[in-house]
Amino acid sequence: MISVFTSASELPYELPHLDTITAEDLIDGVKEGIEAHAQEVAAIASDASPATFENTFVALELSGQVLARAVSTAFNIIPSHGTEEMKRAETTIEPLLNTHWNAILLSPELSARLSQVDLSGLSGEDARLAEQVLLERKLAGSELSDSAREELKELNARISKLTTAFGQAVSDDLNAAAVELTEDEAAGLSPAQLAATRVEKPGAAVGHEDTHRITLILPSSQPALAKLTHAESRRKLYESSVSRGSADDGGTLALAPQIAQLRAQRARLLGFQHHAEAVLAERSESDLSKVQALLSSAVDPALANAAREDAAIAAWQGTPVKPWDRARGLEALGADQGGVDESALVGYFELNRVIEDGVFRAAHLLYGLTFKARPDLPVHHPDARVWEVFDADGSGLGLFIGDYFARPTKRGGAWMNSLRDGASLVGQKPVVTNNLNIPKPAAGEPALVTLDEVNTLFHEFGHALHGLFSEAKYPSLAGTSVPQDIVEYPSQVNEMWAFHPEVLPHYAIHVETGEPLPADLVADLQKDTTWGEGFSTTEYLAASLLDLAWHQLAPDEVIEDPLAFEATVLADHGFHPDQLPPRYRTGYFQHIFDGGYSAGYYSYFWAEVLDADTVEWFKEQPSLREAGETFRRELLARGNTRDALESYNAFRGRAASTEPLLKRRGLI
Ligand SMILES: [Zn+2]
Repeated sequence: MISVFTSASELPYELPHLDTITAEDLIDGVKEGIEAHAQEVAAIASDASPATFENTFVALELSGQVLARAVSTAFNIIPSHGTEEMKRAETTIEPLLNTHWNAILLSPELSARLSQVDLSGLSGEDARLAEQVLLERKLAGSELSDSAREELKELNARISKLTTAFGQAVSDDLNAAAVELTEDEAAGLSPAQLAATRVEKPGAAVGHEDTHRITLILPSSQPALAKLTHAESRRKLYESSVSRGSADDGGTLALAPQIAQLRAQRARLLGFQHHAEAVLAERSESDLSKVQALLSSAVDPALANAAREDAAIAAWQGTPVKPWDRARGLEALGADQGGVDESALVGYFELNRVIEDGVFRAAHLLYGLTFKARPDLPVHHPDARVWEVFDADGSGLGLFIGDYFARPTKRGGAWMNSLRDGASLVGQKPVVTNNLNIPKPAAGEPALVTLDEVNTLFHEFGHALHGLFSEAKYPSLAGTSVPQDIVEYPSQVNEMWAFHPEVLPHYAIHVETGEPLPADLVADLQKDTTWGEGFSTTEYLAASLLDLAWHQLAPDEVIEDPLAFEATVLADHGFHPDQLPPRYRTGYFQHIFDGGYSAGYYSYFWAEVLDADTVEWFKEQPSLREAGETFRRELLARGNTRDALESYNAFRGRAASTEPLLKRRGLI
């Protein structure tokens, strides 16, 4: 079998021919790649010579290159430009890949072969590779007996069915729990909101008014709560939001305890005390008691700050604060509390300037990088652009593809992807992409971006740098292949450069007048505001601790009343959920009951602890360029080739402190 992926592309950095690759090519490439990879793995497992690190673990890293080329190309093109044909290719490819990866992870022959390798003399990246490969296999069930493996398969199938049902029910509830308000009850909504929620009653009797139907979004707090004038309307919307899943009909509140229990059984089968322990085994911080302590230490300051915010809102509205009053009070008092007036910023952020004189400039100041547009290289869509990235010494580092505009074939949101991992074993240099969904301007018009999009451009480029700086030997440990609880950390750090005095004035220039951003607006952007952080931190911590409680249950602990369980957990941690509910309650906590965040919702906080502590460190350094070099060498370049917290210690000189984050959030 021969496909366009049989050999590496002859283009610079082995960039695939993204402009001509078809859906058929992707399917053919994946099929060819799977066949070739399966043969390579079988040969490694049945090798007659004595098992060594080289002929097992390293051989596995070298295997599957056709498949890797096909898969990375497919998963770059499909989310960015998923035509109907490409989406059909995705549906064909995904089950093939799942079956293939499972067969390898659970192959008894391969497990037996790997277990013969003497790992005692390994060190550095070699030791890390062996440890990571064996852990991944253990978590997949490779060490189990045949009967236990059957049991695991059964558990996985049941969990998957229940989590899918949970996700479906949560989406249905967004509509089912929608609130209908009369024209009068909807007072306070903006004209656009009124138009968007209007339910016309054509031909109704005279005097019968139109109504406004407010569908819900996932978190407890609903956007319309910030606007609705009548307290009674707000109360209705709030109650409807926080009581989701309560219906006694096999809805989400019936599913959650079953999911938690099956996960507990699975964890026990795999040799862990509970699900949280199994999840944390793969994280940067595997000690559950440390994670709990970190979250708990922030609870009291967060509650105290929330109480101060409540007091300010109560003084403003003249009555005690009910939970449905909060969003409105926060918004009404926001400007006085130092928020930025976004309307004054219009015209100052032009996309090309933000990229080349902002994002790239920051990378130049810190790391000495330079960028050269390469319009001669092929891309998956005419709007995407390629830059060749050069290191400070002028050598080629990799390629960066920026695909910034929204289009019907693009998935929502913003993300970074890796087309080629930087890994010396396979002689690869990195090729990375950033995707955003900025509305495309009319032909000839400049693309103006919002403050939020400026932040996103810096954020996603932080992920890109993590990929570009990879100095890994092994592809599976390269670049952004780090534990889930810290993958957002380098990108969060990169956001700090958006408003840096050496960066902001260079790109924030008015698109028509050429004037720089006025000093008072610069000051507003650089000022830290903590208004609302008391509330948002409290609701976030409550959700994180609730998640960990659900996932520390023993397999035989049956939760009959999930709401009572939730209330006890929250009260034990000092929360008053009737006054300030968690960001997600059990009945609609989709991140953990149908998403990748079970026992991991705390990760956002953990990544932000490292981020805030790193920002402090950068501020203390006398030279940006030297600081950048240290951060790159000890942290970004390492990827997953060594323990993440060891890398952290290596540049920071100590473990992370929570103080900068608590300060940033106004909690101390
Ligand atoms: Zn990110």
